[in-house]
Amino acid sequence: MLELRNLTVRYDKHLALDDVSLTLDKGETVVILGANGAGKTSLLKAMAGVVRADAGSQIVLDGAPITGLRADQVTNAGIALVPEGRGVVGLMTVEENLRLGANPKRARAVEAERMELVFDIFPRLKERLGQYVRTMSGGEQQMVAVGRAMMSNPDYLLLDEPSLGLAPIIVTDMFKALARITQTGVGLLIVEQNVRVSLKHADRGFLLEAGRITGSGTSAELLDDDAVRHAFLGGN
Ligand code: ATP
Repeated sequence: MLELRNLTVRYDKHLALDDVSLTLDKGETVVILGANGAGKTSLLKAMAGVVRADAGSQIVLDGAPITGLRADQVTNAGIALVPEGRGVVGLMTVEENLRLGANPKRARAVEAERMELVFDIFPRLKERLGQYVRTMSGGEQQMVAVGRAMMSNPDYLLLDEPSLGLAPIIVTDMFKALARITQTGVGLLIVEQNVRVSLKHADRGFLLEAGRITGSGTSAELLDDDAVRHAFLGGN
């Protein structure tokens, strides 16, 4: 289990995350819903070791504290981040991007089988191994980003707005691929503004407003919640 206990993140005096606590199990999908600036990216970055959490914050992986680890150490502990904007290398091929993902120690010995798993999830990538990533569509680049993260052999995958900028049909395909990933036992933490689609594919969710968790529940409960409807679904 991956646990956040009282996670607080500040940028100088600006409080971006205030005492956030949540848990994520292997094989489940949890979505964090929040508007622009709510702190969603900061949450994932703190978990991934990219930004520093305040004293008193605890990030715990299977009972062991991982707070304060560097990003590469966090990846090696089994947590992979798919950043906002994907973070793929456009001037490299699909294959080169995927192989970059297999750099952590926990992934090197299983590189060939991870590659097969990625091809199984995203058959398109196998067809396009030699293609330069910058020449691919947004949806294909997102596949490369998720595929590269899967190459690190993670137990948990953190996804920053995976649906951003993608056409609805591509978003549906992406969420189907993510469901396939959870079937392999990986836990997914997804931050999203696309409320309907993400709740449809998630088990549980949290509302993040101005850095604080203001609500939580099963996906069905949240879809039915007045505050969610007003904030995200236009009150319908
Ligand atoms: P968005 O969807 O727009 O990316 P978000 O929910 O991911 O928003 P964050 O990017 O985590 O929100 O930002 C939370 C708050 O912290 C915002 O007010 C933002 O301006 C601020 N912030 C984020 N990064 C920094 C930084 N490096 N320095 C100063 N303030 C920052």
